[in-house]
Amino acid sequence: MIAEQDIQFPPQRVLMGPGPSDVAPRVLRALAAPTLGHLDPCYLRIMDQTRDLLRKVFQTNNEMTLAISGTGSAGMEACVCNLIEPGDEMIVCVAGVFGGRMKDVAQRYGATVHTIEVPWGTHVEPEKIADMLKAHPKTKVVGLVHAETSTGMHQPMEEVSQIVQAHGALLLVDAVTSLGGVPLPVDQWKIDACYSGTQKCLSCPPGLAPVTFSSRALEAMDKRKTKVTSWYLDMSMLRNYWGSDRAYHHTAPINMTYALREALQIVMEEGLAKRIVRHTKHHRMLRAGLEAMGIRYIPSHSLTTLNAIHVPEGVDDAKVRRRLLEEYGIEIGAGLGPFKGKAWRIGLMGESSSRRHVTLVLAALESILQTEGYSLEPGAALSAAAAAEKEADLAAVG
Ligand SMILES: *Cc1c(COP(=O)(O)O)cnc(C)c1O
Repeated sequence: MIAEQDIQFPPQRVLMGPGPSDVAPRVLRALAAPTLGHLDPCYLRIMDQTRDLLRKVFQTNNEMTLAISGTGSAGMEACVCNLIEPGDEMIVCVAGVFGGRMKDVAQRYGATVHTIEVPWGTHVEPEKIADMLKAHPKTKVVGLVHAETSTGMHQPMEEVSQIVQAHGALLLVDAVTSLGGVPLPVDQWKIDACYSGTQKCLSCPPGLAPVTFSSRALEAMDKRKTKVTSWYLDMSMLRNYWGSDRAYHHTAPINMTYALREALQIVMEEGLAKRIVRHTKHHRMLRAGLEAMGIRYIPSHSLTTLNAIHVPEGVDDAKVRRRLLEEYGIEIGAGLGPFKGKAWRIGLMGESSSRRHVTLVLAALESILQTEGYSLEPGAALSAAAAAEKEADLAAVG
């Protein structure tokens, strides 16, 4: 039962699922500032600053860097629909839900998709992409997910980038759960189109999708013979609003832009490198604690921002998640697709990647699992996390 009070004043949760993550009070305050017009000179300055900050966080000099109105999936559609014309060939790597979504989106926009499918929890070996490019030399775009949130898999990128670059195809990367949490040097990796979302490692409410396009991607867009199928996401018009023309296209989500600017500001104040180290440290702490409870990780190459683990044998998945929420206000994620009922997904993204979050979720989980009849050594999880913290701190000093 949800109390009427909670509907009027939504309660404070501890967001440790696959997104949204906890939002800093500063970002919520930014959201509450007076709404400006979308052509107000003050708002235009806010847009420009947001754009500059996005370039820093994406580690790119790409002129075409902006925030699409909509969530991460709108970023996905924007990248696909601007690069793809009906009949174009595209390779999509599918290692979980989000690779599958990219394939669906590409097909809807008329691409002939060549799929590289790998078992859930594993990453894509670069040779598979090289082989697929050999088999389909006319491929225009290669799309893959850097951080597969459905399986917790962290896709290695460097070799993939070299292979796609050598072939001359465009590289499209889903960085929804990686931007601001794990290394993502867009220019260094020669990524041609990259999208993210605000509510994961940037710790901003959901509602905008940061995107960036290389000059090669822009050339491909300029060479299109057909109009972009989506009017709303057509970059040739959006660039005129974000560029010097300021031509009205659609009313920008003004207050969301304030929030994103503030969230990006927080990222830069902390520093990207330090932020990545922080995500690594808290992942190691959580992992040590979970493993001390006998819980196993799913992916062979895990993200630091999302921890996908096996639900322990004999434990009721939904009941434990419900108890975490009701008794501790902690949200974690359920398994999707083949992992339904079998996996938990614990996010440590942005504001939610902290010592407090790790300690809280380990203690709560230990307490609940004990009463659910799962056998564990009391206190082992927190001791292991503390040991991992010490080790990470020593490594940082050394
Ligand atoms: C969350 C997510 C998306 C979709 O983002 P929405 O904001 O839910 O639209 C896409 N790709 C990945 C990898 C994600 O984690």
